[in-house]
Amino acid sequence: MMQQLMSRALPSTMATLPRSGTRAICVWPGMRQLSLRKHLLYGFMRFFSIPFKTVRGASRSLGVSHFCSVVNMSSMFQVELVPCLSDNYAYLLHDLNTGTVGVVDPSEAVPVIDALSKKNRNLTYILNTHHHHDHTGGNMELKERYGAKVIGSGVDIDRIPGIDIALNDGDSWMFGGHEVLVIGTPGHTRGHISFYFPGFGSVFTGDTLFSLSCGKLFEGTPEQMYASLRRISSLPDETNIYCGHEYTLSNSKFALSIEPGNEVLQSYSTHIAHLCSKGVPTIPTTLKMEKACNPFLRTASTEIRRSLNIPATASDEETLGAIRRAKDEF
Ligand SMILES: [Zn+2]
Repeated sequence: MMQQLMSRALPSTMATLPRSGTRAICVWPGMRQLSLRKHLLYGFMRFFSIPFKTVRGASRSLGVSHFCSVVNMSSMFQVELVPCLSDNYAYLLHDLNTGTVGVVDPSEAVPVIDALSKKNRNLTYILNTHHHHDHTGGNMELKERYGAKVIGSGVDIDRIPGIDIALNDGDSWMFGGHEVLVIGTPGHTRGHISFYFPGFGSVFTGDTLFSLSCGKLFEGTPEQMYASLRRISSLPDETNIYCGHEYTLSNSKFALSIEPGNEVLQSYSTHIAHLCSKGVPTIPTTLKMEKACNPFLRTASTEIRRSLNIPATASDEETLGAIRRAKDEF
């Protein structure tokens, strides 16, 4: 199924994702260094414009043309982080062409309503990666207020509040004229799905793949989580990963404890600590960074296996299970 998915996804992805050379020119090199305060997070937006990508902050609104001489404004798509509860992120998606607005995993309604009100926007869709209350708690209030349609896993039609459109692994769905590919990613829950936007090189992974970790195995096995992570990690390296929680700093401490010799992880962890000290989100991360640093994507690492006394003969799935158990006890 994933091969089918990828064979559909890759041609458009390959055609639209910026080449590394182009990206080096057009991505604002200091975007990770932006010292935006947490109270400005509602204005912390990432603009995706094929083939260019820029960032705007509420405190410093800079024109796209400042960075790139050519911008296809007709393709602009915007993702806004909305902090919810203590460490959740909901994400507002805005297709500027059609005015379509979606929210991914609204834990609660009020922060989402506030973010929409500030821009005088309506809400078209609510996308849920899984049924847990800290990802669906705002569904009914938002649905009632805006008439938004709720999109979720067909496996969880009885557990996702207000579900209108049930999607399953391998399904393709359209958001404001943009293709969304549904990747079944069970392990954290049995119905967990991830939403992949190939045209924007972005995937919303809920509680499956975090930066430097993965979700707890509440309803699944290490084998299922391993397969789910493999499917996500088969996307292009440049893919932006938008996950459900800001857990990165604590995850980095565990990751370093079992792979202290990983130099990329060392520098990424320093960077993460700096961002967190400034109240700046660590999300999105990229698949490339996660492959280099996330222990759950590094089950072949001899250093990790040695740290946890996992035999060299253990399978990747067994190793993932052992890493997960160690993380649960960390
Ligand atoms: Zn969850």
